[in-house]
Amino acid sequence: MSGTPEGPHSATVAAPGTVRPPVTERHTLGRTAAELRDYGAAFRAAHLAMAVLDREGLVISANDALAALLGIEPAALSAQAAADLVDLESDPRTWHAYREVLDSRRSRFRCTRRLKHSSGHALWAEITVSPVPESPTVLLSIADISDRRELQARLRHLQMHDPVTRLPNRTLFFERLASALEASAQVKGASYVEGGPYVEGASHRDDTGTGDSPGTGDGNGDGGTGRIGLCYLDLDGFKAVNDTLGHRTGDRLLAAVASRLTECADHDGYTRSGGHLVARLGGDEFAILVEDSTGTEQLADLARSVLSALQRPFDLGGQRLSVSASIGVVERSTAGTTPTGLMQAADTTLYWAKADGKARWTLFDPERNAHRMTRQALTSSLRPAIERDEFVLQYQPLVGMADGIVGGVEALVRWNHPQFGTLAPNRFIGIAEEDGSIVQLGRWVLRTACRQARQWQKDHPRVRPLFVSVNVAVRQVWDSDLVADVAEILAETGLAPQLLQLELTESAVMGSAGRPLQALQALSDMGVRIAIDDFGTGYSNLAYLSRLPVSVLKLDGSFVRGFRYDEGVHPSPADETIVEAMVQLAHRLGLTVTAECVETSGQAARLQRIGCDTGQGWLFSRPVAPERIAEMIAVSPLEA
Ligand code: C2E
Ligand code: MG
Ligand code: MG
Repeated sequence: MSGTPEGPHSATVAAPGTVRPPVTERHTLGRTAAELRDYGAAFRAAHLAMAVLDREGLVISANDALAALLGIEPAALSAQAAADLVDLESDPRTWHAYREVLDSRRSRFRCTRRLKHSSGHALWAEITVSPVPESPTVLLSIADISDRRELQARLRHLQMHDPVTRLPNRTLFFERLASALEASAQVKGASYVEGGPYVEGASHRDDTGTGDSPGTGDGNGDGGTGRIGLCYLDLDGFKAVNDTLGHRTGDRLLAAVASRLTECADHDGYTRSGGHLVARLGGDEFAILVEDSTGTEQLADLARSVLSALQRPFDLGGQRLSVSASIGVVERSTAGTTPTGLMQAADTTLYWAKADGKARWTLFDPERNAHRMTRQALTSSLRPAIERDEFVLQYQPLVGMADGIVGGVEALVRWNHPQFGTLAPNRFIGIAEEDGSIVQLGRWVLRTACRQARQWQKDHPRVRPLFVSVNVAVRQVWDSDLVADVAEILAETGLAPQLLQLELTESAVMGSAGRPLQALQALSDMGVRIAIDDFGTGYSNLAYLSRLPVSVLKLDGSFVRGFRYDEGVHPSPADETIVEAMVQLAHRLGLTVTAECVETSGQAARLQRIGCDTGQGWLFSRPVAPERIAEMIAVSPLEA
């Protein structure tokens, strides 16, 4: 650079002959006084706030930018503990990391801190501490990142809120729900607090800066109730508003609903701090999250107040609109609760509220849920269960009232479910009818019962053979070729048609014309007996029944239950009169009568006097395994 006009590169090349200090000296003691002066000036004039610290963490020198950032005179900074100036002591993890840098056990440490300027205003600072190479000192630098933080907060606010109602959206709702559950599961004090070490701005979980989320505390769980509640609501008929009045009106309605919900959530008498998180989860779905709930009563009150707040008509630019809402309410301990579990429960409960008639709140009911779940589980495992042979038949004796002889047995199906144990038919017959698998199951029952009856007959050739009575569902008559099935099974098992009785309910045969009537007629022609099961619970139209090929009436158990002689209860004469009249009429029409649910000898005596032909019930025997029936036959005195 000195003088001589040379080639184009000369400007960047040190002039030949210039003596430079050896490398080792250049960085340490070998610095010229001028260099040191320049460095000092650069340090002082830098825009980045900096301080040089000794290994105790005391300020050796600080620049003007640091003084300005904190609002402290530069001179007053010297010999101060840096940890005090920028709050490095309040959090143990931060303090530990900082000490490691001072002790040369770590090469760098960075954290984000909220600092206070002496004039009172707060700022966000990114603090970096690193040793100065080959020097006993440490450099502390502080960048004011308030603008960046504010921008981040604003972006976050946009991402986390719904523009129509200005409420927190689904994302924020789930974040808060997750952190509420996490916080209460966490050991106190170990929580990940704001501004901890290694936290780069973007990874913060707080909602700082948005200023509109109702107070939640810091989620540390201190003094929390360990419970959480949720009102999950959906407007009834909102789609109609959108469709008929347009989306603009729909949006205005949503915004108006949102503000009423917020009012309710802010004026909850249970919480001192008031305010629960109200979020729009999408469409016309809203949620109110009650952290630290005090119990179901709090949630019930909140749900009630929401319903009544929404009852007042809305005035939307001259248009008066009324809406109602359905609310699913869930309240439970946070222990073992997951966000998904809670939301599923809320969803189910909301569905119940809608199904129960809308415009109401419904509380989650674990039993109702279990029922729903087992129903689901049963539905899906029914068909494979038939193939896996999980069903068994029990048989209940049908006893002659006059002679006490077992003439036949009713086959009653049970499901040995691998998970739920033995299930009674009322748990699964309805489901099987709904999904059509009753046809397959019914065929299995019929075949098994006929085969069994034939087996007893073969095993006890000298005893009058038992008939078997098999229950037939409505759908078997309609959806399958019952006549063909019966014929095939009788042929296959070798059972005489006279030893088979089919039980149908009144409703299955009432009004029967066409196919069912033809089926009944064909079966009867074959020699199979038809019985009407649970008689008296439906139409009880004896005159009509007598015109059908029916030969047995099975009186429903509720009639016999009216005969309560033994317990000292005065019998209801009306019941007796009715039953007696029915038996007489049935006989006149050529039908025999079987009474179900005979539990006491008093009932049996009464039935016998009235003229009832056959009895079935616990007095004689519970439904039992086929082996037990074989034992009964073996001791039977009656020879064929
Ligand atoms: P159902 O045909 O009226 O059968 C009589 C029911 O009364 C049986 O219940 C039996 O256990 C019960 N029972 C018998 N004696 C007494 C008594 O003295 N007191 C009381 N309280 N109850 C008594 P189960 O076995 O639970 O069957 C219930 C119903 O399930 C049956 O009522 C029948 O409608 C249906 N079902 C059973 N098996 C089948 C089947 O294989 N196919 C079809 N489609 N339905 C079936
Ligand atoms: Mg029956
Ligand atoms: Mg019955």
